[in-house]
Amino acid sequence: MRYLIISDIHANLTAFQAVLEDAGYYDYVWCLGDVVGYGPDPNECVELLRSLPHLSLAGNHDWAALGRLDIRTFNADARKAVLWTREMLSPENRAYLEELPTTFILGDFTLSHGSPREPIWEYILDPLIAALNFQAFSTQYCLVGHTHTPVLFRELRENGGCEVVMPKYRERIPLDDSRYIINPGSVGQPRDSIPDAAYAILDTTSGTWEHRRVPYNIDAVQQRMRKHGLPDRLIMRLEHGW
Ligand code: ZN
Repeated sequence: MRYLIISDIHANLTAFQAVLEDAGYYDYVWCLGDVVGYGPDPNECVELLRSLPHLSLAGNHDWAALGRLDIRTFNADARKAVLWTREMLSPENRAYLEELPTTFILGDFTLSHGSPREPIWEYILDPLIAALNFQAFSTQYCLVGHTHTPVLFRELRENGGCEVVMPKYRERIPLDDSRYIINPGSVGQPRDSIPDAAYAILDTTSGTWEHRRVPYNIDAVQQRMRKHGLPDRLIMRLEHGW
């Protein structure tokens, strides 16, 4: 089976479409949450996702758009975008988001938006946090999003630590018998200084993982954001990838 692995679409339809076009053939989509929030196309992105053979998790921005989270912890720009998204979401798309779980366990894979021990909130930004999270899931692999940065953490059996493996794009990595926590990066708001949309292809038949990047028409997204009065900082960051 060939899986398209996506996360943090963040209501960016143009980036989402570019990823689907670039991905080629796949059997199924695993979406790791944050379908909405920040971007100008919340309904369009939920609808496109719903039209695909897929499963999706809920992320913190999905919950915020549903009013399930106290958004006082969000920065002012994110808060503005959340409130705008809340107003825009159609009842059907809201109902879809309401049903999303926070974790999936599928064969060798645990899926969660933030981390296996704190699926909605925790950011796995460094090997220390990753090492602690290896104890929080029992499958061989765990897929996460939330940081908007593609990365692999490989568990080191010798000392209970883990090493960071930086992604090489368009290169199939064999998933060996190590345990991994893997982040495909963000479709709609990359934060690793590369503005291209990020995603991954998991091939369970050959046992390989492949990180990918694809450019998209950022200007078109920024124009829609301006039209809707979304915050300038959120508009600008797309072209810089932060
Ligand atoms: Zn996110």
